[in-house]
Amino acid sequence: MHEIDIAAQILRAGQAEAERCPGARLSTVKVQIGVLAGVDVHALRFAWDVLSQQENTIPPRLEIVTVPRRNLCEDCGAEFPSEATEAVCPVCSSRKSFLLGGDELQLACVEVEE
Ligand SMILES: [Zn+2]
Repeated sequence: MHEIDIAAQILRAGQAEAERCPGARLSTVKVQIGVLAGVDVHALRFAWDVLSQQENTIPPRLEIVTVPRRNLCEDCGAEFPSEATEAVCPVCSSRKSFLLGGDELQLACVEVEE
């Protein structure tokens, strides 16, 4: 995926949310991006600036929340940040765990101003 496409999708989704409140202006869009999503955050911010300034209004801010990679232990159910798929559970030292998240790319919330 290209960051410019991602930025366009986020902007469209944010604007769609803002349109639910007539007369309101989109002020901030928050997104959660997992470290495994393969998104270049700097490129995304750059793309966002370019895109949002094409609108004839004050451009909305983009807030990026980085979501770390994490595993879920199959033995004790603990959820923990991980660096590798073969991570060792910090609670029970089990090596049986699977990747739970870290590849998400989702709109977290949208703020509008009257
Ligand atoms: Zn465990």
